[in-house]
Amino acid sequence: MHEYSIVQALLNQCEDIAKEHNATKIEKIVCKIGIMSGIEIHLFEIAFNTFKEGTICSEARLIINRQDLKLKCEGCDREFETKEIISICDVCGDVLNTIDGEDIYLMRFWEMTLMGESVYILEMLKLSNRGLNDNTNR
Ligand SMILES: [Zn+2]
Repeated sequence: MHEYSIVQALLNQCEDIAKEHNATKIEKIVCKIGIMSGIEIHLFEIAFNTFKEGTICSEARLIINRQDLKLKCEGCDREFETKEIISICDVCGDVLNTIDGEDIYLMRFWEMTLMGESVYILEMLKLSNRGLNDNTNR
């Protein structure tokens, strides 16, 4: 299932990055999932809760924000958000470019202990659907 392989890739990345930072655990994962990413949020949550066991994310809270498709017109420069897939501006007829909503963004918070003090790190990364598929099918 699509969501399962994406969650698996997400958890692997979290492990890697936590290791880099000597983080002891990840507390919160915030995902922004684009409406065009093809991800079912319900399935994504189930997959996350299934796979997080035994990983550095086992106690992490998952927060998912849905991102509508954000488009910008090449002709009249207008920007707007929509839930529909459209490619032509209905004002001027020019081509619409996607600014946001196609990919998955993750914001991860984790705690690491440095000289007895807890330090919180926030990182943001973008997982494009294509990039993930390339990774998992390798
Ligand atoms: Zn336009």
